[in-house]
Amino acid sequence: MSDLTDLYQQVILDHQRRPRNFGDLEDADRRAEGYNPLCGDRINVELKLGDDGSVTDVRFSGQGCAICTASASMMTESLHGRKADDADHICRGFTDLVTGKREPEDAEGELGKLVVFAGVREFPVRVKCATLPWHTFRAALEGRGKPVSTE
Ligand code: ZN
Repeated sequence: MSDLTDLYQQVILDHQRRPRNFGDLEDADRRAEGYNPLCGDRINVELKLGDDGSVTDVRFSGQGCAICTASASMMTESLHGRKADDADHICRGFTDLVTGKREPEDAEGELGKLVVFAGVREFPVRVKCATLPWHTFRAALEGRGKPVSTE
């Protein structure tokens, strides 16, 4: 686990310093907001869907801690261009990984470099920071109007 923990810390720092796909998405088809009262993370996820049901663009905005920001940033990279079903599946896989229901070795084929987030298990209070963007993405995808809260 220690190699994965080092990699986890590097990835978090990199994405926190230079978040990818950060900002508002004009003409978004779907959007949702998420809030994690334990930490104070607040994020918005906006996305566009193509005619074939794929996620043609996805952005996030708001204010989150390093882990929330890095998770959201990597999420936008990995879900961009995915079919909605596929994206939903990855959201569930990611949540299972960080909550310990799935081991990184089993999840790697599906989640790719997202497996570094298995490192968050060593910091249990941060699990909700890591999963918030993914819950929010799913809410946006499903067109749920109600803000997402981790509590
Ligand atoms: Zn947080």
